[in-house]
Order: sequence, then structure tokens, then C-alpha cells
Amino acid sequence: MELPWVEPYKIKMTEDIYISTREEREKWIEEAGFNLFNLTSEKVFVDLLTDSGTGAMSDKQWAEIMIGDESYAGSQSFLKLKKVVNEVLGLPYALPTHQGRAAENVLFSVLVKEGFVVPGNSHFDTTKGHIEFRKAHAVDCTIDEAFDIHDLHPFKGNIDVNKLEEVYKSHPKENIPFCLITVTCNTSGGQPVSMENIKAVKALSDKYGIPVYFDAARFAENAYFIKEREDAYKDKSIKEIVKEMFSYGEGFTMSAKKDGLVNIGGLLALRDENLYRTCGNFGIIYEGYLTYGGLAGRDLGALAQGLMESTEHTYLKARINQVEYLGNKLIEFGIPVQKPIGGHAVFVDALSFLPNVPREEYAAQTLAIELYKEAGIRGVEIGTLLADRDPETRLDRFPKLELLRLAIPRKTYSYNHMDYIAVALKNIYDRRNEIKSGLEIVWESPILRHFTVELKKSNSVSNVLNSSRMNDKI
Ligand SMILES: *Cc1c(COP(=O)(O)O)cnc(C)c1O
Repeated sequence: MELPWVEPYKIKMTEDIYISTREEREKWIEEAGFNLFNLTSEKVFVDLLTDSGTGAMSDKQWAEIMIGDESYAGSQSFLKLKKVVNEVLGLPYALPTHQGRAAENVLFSVLVKEGFVVPGNSHFDTTKGHIEFRKAHAVDCTIDEAFDIHDLHPFKGNIDVNKLEEVYKSHPKENIPFCLITVTCNTSGGQPVSMENIKAVKALSDKYGIPVYFDAARFAENAYFIKEREDAYKDKSIKEIVKEMFSYGEGFTMSAKKDGLVNIGGLLALRDENLYRTCGNFGIIYEGYLTYGGLAGRDLGALAQGLMESTEHTYLKARINQVEYLGNKLIEFGIPVQKPIGGHAVFVDALSFLPNVPREEYAAQTLAIELYKEAGIRGVEIGTLLADRDPETRLDRFPKLELLRLAIPRKTYSYNHMDYIAVALKNIYDRRNEIKSGLEIVWESPILRHFTVELKKSNSVSNVLNSSRMNDKI
């Protein structure tokens, strides 16, 4: 019999989590205004709010915390990080930052100006924020397959080169500072970008004289999918794939809180010395001196070690298999989820899960609250609350999909936790027809409302509103 495949690590330290009752949770969530962001962590049993900075570190990373060199300039911990950026990621210049959005702020301060357009594959919200804050525009060139949750395309993060060429043709070259490839594509569900697509984007961009950059938050998970799904790469190591991937770009911004396997940190890596010098000035103003960038020396050492570990195939297999295991359990139970399962999260399609809840009553948020009440699991709504209101009409914007995201922290929960999550959702799914109404807003902020919104149970009777499920507006 073939030996089953298991995680390539054992556990050295554990953290207790409080097992609450349904009565406690019903009270807490009401007090929290039916907003999961308002819950303090001890009220959450399994926390799937995000995979950002929430994972476990290895003993070797903790060792780096202990031996961190806290020198202001020229820290040994920085030199370790620089060495990994040079030798494993293949870029000569490294500027640490306190997290991913700070790396975006530094790079975009130099490259993005008013009126510019930045094409890419579904830019992450902070990325889009940093572009739009500079009165520039992010243009989404993701392939259409990405928006059909049932389409089994193996690389739904891919950029449609025809859409990209349209952007290149319709704007003067001076107004397109770069094309940004996000690996994996968070916004479209942790979906990967193929090496073939990266090469095609690079070739097209070269033709038009436009540089390519990466948003590299989940670069290692992307490399794993390339190895698994792209025949030409099945015999290459993850480190070889990563190096090739970055060889097609002029640099990257990275939230190290994902595949850096650390709880805080970011990175800007660059190929060009002059650009490094210019970015370095902004780095110093916004983040700190060039060799620490808003982080402690120990954080830099833990990140260097984290990058070495996250680019190991055995680690990635454990990571991505666990997410897939949860996704497949849900599929077995007939629960509608986005397919294929992404690298860091499972996305549940709330509109087909809760057919009786009107869209105006925030179906995905309603499902997120049900899941919390059922089992103390905290997911996050990726739907109408997140989409905010139309700035002119002030009406809700209904995005194409109304999703509940279950993001899995790295090396944190066991397979038993995955079973627990799956059964909790199944229980709700079994009584889905009884859930007929959702939530209404009591208070909201004018932008980014989902973080602070306060809600209450809606009083409406759904069969009146059922007909009002609107078609997609954006
Ligand atoms: C998390 C993330 C960011 C922002 O990074 P922070 O560390 O949260 O500031 C940018 N891009 C992508 C794709 C991300 O997932």
C-alpha cells in the first residue's frame, strides 16, 4: 500500500481556544452589530477572517527572532533577507517595508502619476487604493473565465493579452507606468497565473516598451500551481520556478504576511539601481532606513527564513492540500463553492447557498453570521457590503458574485478543524430553505464600510422581496 502523504512538520507549541456555546455566540454577534470584525478574538473558535499574518512560524523562524540584529544600519538580519532576495528570488535590490501596502506606497510614489493607467489582473484593494489615491486608474484585464465560479480553467488568474493590448494601444506609453501581475490573484479567489501567461504578458509588454511588476503576496503558492498544472514545469523545483517567474519582471511588491510566513512585514524588490535609489528616498521618508524599513531586525531574520521555507514543495503541498481538502468536503456535501479551489481560501457562493435571502439583505453576510452562530467560525463577506455604495447614486452596488470567503491561516489548523468547518456549513445548508431573511444596515461609514458597519436582522418577508433579486450592476 502506498504510504499516505503527510505534513512535513510536527507541532512544538499549542494555543488553547475557547469553545463557546450557541447562546453565547448569539448574544455576542448581536452586541457586535452583526459585524464579524467587531468580535474580539476569544469569541471566535476557528478564525478564517484572513490568511494575512495569522499563520504559525517554524522553530527556525523563532530562532531568528531570538538572534535578530537590531542595528539601525547594516543589520545582519537584513543581510540574510537580502541574500534570499538575491539568490532565491533573483532580484538584486531589496527594500523592507512594514507590510505589503507600504511597499506599494513606496514604488507607486515614484512610478504612478495622475491620469496614468495600470493594467493587471484584478488588483488587490490596497493596490487599487494606492493607484486611485494618485488619481490614476487600475484596469482589470483578467480572463473572463475567472468570473464564472464553475469554469474549471486551471489558471483563472491569467491576464487576457487581448484586453491588455487594448490598454497598450489606447493610451500613450508614457501614461502606462507598468503592468502588474498579481500571483496568485487574491481578488479572483486565490487563482494562479500560468508561466505561459506571464511570458506572454512579458513579450507583449516588451513590444510596447512597458515594464512588468509583480504583486507577489502569494508567489510561492502560484509557483506550486505552475508545477502541478503546467506540464513543462512538473520536474522543476519551486525555487527554480520562482526565479524564472520573477525573471520576467522589473521587481515586485510583497506582503510578507502571506507567503513570507511572518506575522508582519513587506518587501519591495527591484532590478534597476537608479530606481532602487529613488524608491529608497521614499522608503526612508515613509518606512525607515534602507536596511530595516519599519521592521525590527528580528522580523527581517524571520522573513528571510520564512521565504526559504515557503519555497519548499513539501510545505506548499501541505498548505494547498489542506485548503483543497476543505473545498472538496464542501463539494461532497453539495455546497456551491468556487472551482477550482484557490490556494489560500475556499469561496462559498452565497446566492445559491441561500436562495431565499434577497440580495438587498446581504446574503453573504447573512451566511457568515449563520456560520458564526452555528460553530464560532469567522469568515468574511466578499459581496455587497464590501463593494460599498455607488458614489453618485448612493445605492448599493451589487457585484457579480456574493461570496463568503474562508481563508485558511498557514500551518495553524488541523484536518479535524477542516471537518468541523465543513459540517458546520452542511448543517446550515440542510436548513437553508428556512433562512428567508437577511440583515439591514443601522449605521455605515461612507467608504470601506464593511469594517465598521452595524447591522440588524431584517424584518422583511422574503417572498415579497424574492422577485427583487437584481441583475448584476457592476
Ligand atoms: C495582502 C495583500 C496586499 C497588501 O498587503 P498588506 O501586507 O496587507 O499591506 C497586497 N496585495 C495582495 C495580493 C495581498 O493579498
